[in-house]
Amino acid sequence: MSGTVYLVGAGPGAADLLTLRAANLLARADILFHDALVHPETLALATRAEKIAVGKRCGRHSTAQRFINKRLVDAAGRYEIVVRLKGGDPMLFGRAQEELAALEAAHIRYRVVPGITAALAAAAEIGTSLTQRGSVRSFALATPRSGDDERSSNWIEGFHAADAGAIYMGLREAPAIAASLIAAGRPASTPVAIVVDASLPTANTHYTTLAGLPAYADVDVTGPALLLVGPQFHARTRHSTMHDADTRAIAQHI
Ligand code: SAH
Repeated sequence: MSGTVYLVGAGPGAADLLTLRAANLLARADILFHDALVHPETLALATRAEKIAVGKRCGRHSTAQRFINKRLVDAAGRYEIVVRLKGGDPMLFGRAQEELAALEAAHIRYRVVPGITAALAAAAEIGTSLTQRGSVRSFALATPRSGDDERSSNWIEGFHAADAGAIYMGLREAPAIAASLIAAGRPASTPVAIVVDASLPTANTHYTTLAGLPAYADVDVTGPALLLVGPQFHARTRHSTMHDADTRAIAQHI
C-alpha cells in the first residue's frame, strides 16, 4: 500500500471556516494526525479515521518533529488517505516543509490543502482591512520564533520594511518586539491590535501601541494571540461582533 498524505489547513479555530475540500478529506481519512489547537468539531468530521494528536503547540521541538515526519511516512505505507491537519494554513509557520521533505525523500505522494490563516481571521474579527488603499500596500507575516536548532533571523528589518504586518507567536516577546521596531524607526505611537482566539466565541482584542505593547507580555491570555501592527489597527467602534446569533445562523445555514 502506498497512500497519499494530505497536509490540510484546519483554519483559525471555528469549525465552519474549514474549506469544503478539507471537510471532504476529513470524512474520507483513514488516519488523522492533528495539532493541539484544532477544534473538536473539526476533528469530529473525521468519522472513520484513527485520530492521533501530535500537538507541539509552537513547533519548537525538532525531535518531536522528526517523530511526526516518520509517523507520516509509516502511515502512508499502511493507509490510503492520511491527513495531517494543521492550524490555520499549513504553509505558514507550521513546519510543513520538513514534513513535505520527509515525504519526498520516501517517495510518498502528497497534496496540500490551504486553510484560512490567523491573520485573515483576525482582520475579520476586528473589521479592519489588512491593506488600506493608498496607505498600506504591503503587509508582512512574521514570527520572532526560531527553533532551538536554527539561527535567529533578522526578521525585524523585513517586517519594518512593510507598511503593516502580523506577528505570529509573538506575545511573550512583546517587549523585545516593541523595542526593536521602535529602534528600527517605527513611531512608538503605531497602533497594535492583539487579537486572541480569532474566529472563536471566546475571541477578544486588546488595542494598544508599540509603546504600550510590552505591558501585554505578562497578561494572562489562554488562547493563541496574534499581533497586528500598523496605522490602521486603532480601536474602532463596532456595532456587532462576529460571535452573536447571526454568525451561528450563518454557520447553520451552510
Ligand atoms: N499555520 C497557522 C499558524 C501556526 S503558528 C496559521 O496559518 O494561522 C501559531 C500562532 O498562530 C499562534 O501563536 C498565534 O500567533 C497564531 N494563531 C493561530 N490561531 C489563532 C487564532 N485563532 N487567533 C489568534 N492567533 C492565532
